[in-house]
Amino acid sequence: MKFQIIPVTPFAQNCSLLWCEQTQRGAVVDPGGDVSRIMRAVEANGVILEKILVTHGHIDHAGAVAEMASRLSLPIEGPQCEDKFWIDGMPAQSKMFGFPNVLAFTPDRWLEQGDTICFGNVEMDVLHCPGHTPGHVVFFNRRGRLAIVGDVLFQGSIGRTDFPKGDFDTLISSIRDRLWPLGNDVAFIPGHGPMSTFGDERRSNPFCGD
Ligand SMILES: [Zn+2]
Repeated sequence: MKFQIIPVTPFAQNCSLLWCEQTQRGAVVDPGGDVSRIMRAVEANGVILEKILVTHGHIDHAGAVAEMASRLSLPIEGPQCEDKFWIDGMPAQSKMFGFPNVLAFTPDRWLEQGDTICFGNVEMDVLHCPGHTPGHVVFFNRRGRLAIVGDVLFQGSIGRTDFPKGDFDTLISSIRDRLWPLGNDVAFIPGHGPMSTFGDERRSNPFCGD
């Protein structure tokens, strides 16, 4: 699996373009905005988009999902259904965060712990990791040792838990019980900021380190 990180929106959210090297078929994870920038990366890498994946319902991650899905006729997979209230509230989030008016959407497939998603010949595991939002999911490519973790974990920090239905203890449990067992060698793309590995965060992250 290959990938390219595309920072989007005024929040510099890490949208990820993922694709299968054998088939060039791929997925875009968390298209929060700046669709033309995303499409330039898709074209530059010769990727045939198969689907849109969503880690959670915050506008900087999901603000362009409705637009891309309808413009390109792509199915939407994720997040877990407890984030429905965030997605239904997309127009209200537009006002709150000063985004242009953004439409809500209905995923073609809600995801659950233990599900798998695929594009081309690539398969990724789905981990339900609540705490930042109740329906947040993480995508894990076991063979490539890469996780897309959204706003669960950052280099040196963790996701905010002061939003509705956020919970600090739940977030820490998600990280320790669902992410750490995947292995210290796993690299991750966070929703904001630079990449890191689970091993580095276990050593030095002041919120969730060992
Ligand atoms: Zn978020």
